[in-house]
Amino acid sequence: SSWWKSVQPAAKDPILGVTEAFLADHSPDKVNVGVGAYRDDNGKPVVLECVREAERRIAGNLNMEYLPMGGSMKMVEETLKLAYGENSEFIRDKKIAAVQALSGTGACRLFADFQKRFLPDSQIYIPIPTWSNHHNIWRDAHVAQKTYHYYKPESRGLDFAGLMDDIKNAPNGSFFLLHACAHNPTGVDPTEEQWKEISHQFKDKGHFAFFDMAYQGFASGDPERDAKSIRIFLEDGHQIGIAQSYAKNMGLYGQRVGCLSVVCEDEKQAIAVKSQLQQLARPMYSNPPVHGALIVSSILGDPDLKKLWLKEVKVMADRIIGMRTALRENLEKLGSPLSWKHVTDQIGMFCYSGMTPEQVDRLTNEYHIYMTRNGRISMAGVTTGNVGYLARAIHEVTK
Ligand code: PLP
Repeated sequence: SSWWKSVQPAAKDPILGVTEAFLADHSPDKVNVGVGAYRDDNGKPVVLECVREAERRIAGNLNMEYLPMGGSMKMVEETLKLAYGENSEFIRDKKIAAVQALSGTGACRLFADFQKRFLPDSQIYIPIPTWSNHHNIWRDAHVAQKTYHYYKPESRGLDFAGLMDDIKNAPNGSFFLLHACAHNPTGVDPTEEQWKEISHQFKDKGHFAFFDMAYQGFASGDPERDAKSIRIFLEDGHQIGIAQSYAKNMGLYGQRVGCLSVVCEDEKQAIAVKSQLQQLARPMYSNPPVHGALIVSSILGDPDLKKLWLKEVKVMADRIIGMRTALRENLEKLGSPLSWKHVTDQIGMFCYSGMTPEQVDRLTNEYHIYMTRNGRISMAGVTTGNVGYLARAIHEVTK
């Protein structure tokens, strides 16, 4: 025991702590709008029908050999098409270095390690606020972090001027982390026009854009539309990096399946970069898990299953969009004098409500409603059954 005398308990993860508190509450009224995972209108976790069908097809038909270090090339191929476009010239010209990653987190981490190994003095600009794990990932990869303006509390929307200023003022050739769509935790995305301006400014400054795309399809219901930011950057000739995840849009949370890709100058460079990404993976986890990758490649490689998936993603996105409307309407019906327009303006899984930590504490203590203290509501936890109760409670604490 003397070996670990200096070890103190780690700080609790702010998001996982919410679920723990929710589970310990025995009130029949309790509501969990903290968790970042999709729930159906009965508040139950969902396994997509396309996933069930893919599992039936896989079951008993395959061995359990290791995947190559770079993972399932079939899965990676299909995944690149989603981000870069079916007919992408970058795919055709083999300019993309891509490997299977341990979901979005693993893709970000692999990139951060790659960045540190080959550009050890580079920094990463991270939006404020962001998914809290971004800070942990680049910290543990020993990459210095800078921040950039993103969210404007007064409008509960984008701080476009602040964002553009920070892009301009960063040293030429800086690395920026961008949320491709459905920004977490704010639900605030730039418009298409704004993305074009951002891309031009990046070009002027010679910045590198690393897109974290954890919610493709989850924002609008259409994966093509949600990839717009990336396509704009590609059209402008940027050599970008992308972290992709199937946690949310295929509901494969625990399978840990995703992809890291980096656009290179040519095929030769892409081969070199890919080999180095594999080299980084080897001492960490050797090779990625096989089951989730098989599910994804079975779905995306089969036109009927892919069609079913697209339909099911849209159902999930539409339910969330519907709950945004219902929450806003309920608050307005209750006579709240505050503006709740941002509830429907924001997009994706989260609503950055603007509630203070004290108001959130009251929601939890008086109404058994659980969420992170930054006022982030997971719209995935809102249902036709609890939206009225949630609205009444929010109205009471924001009076
Ligand atoms: N990036 C963002 C912005 C996220 O919100 C999440 C999940 O909450 C992730 C990445 C990573 O998720 P996973 O590692 O499960 O794919």
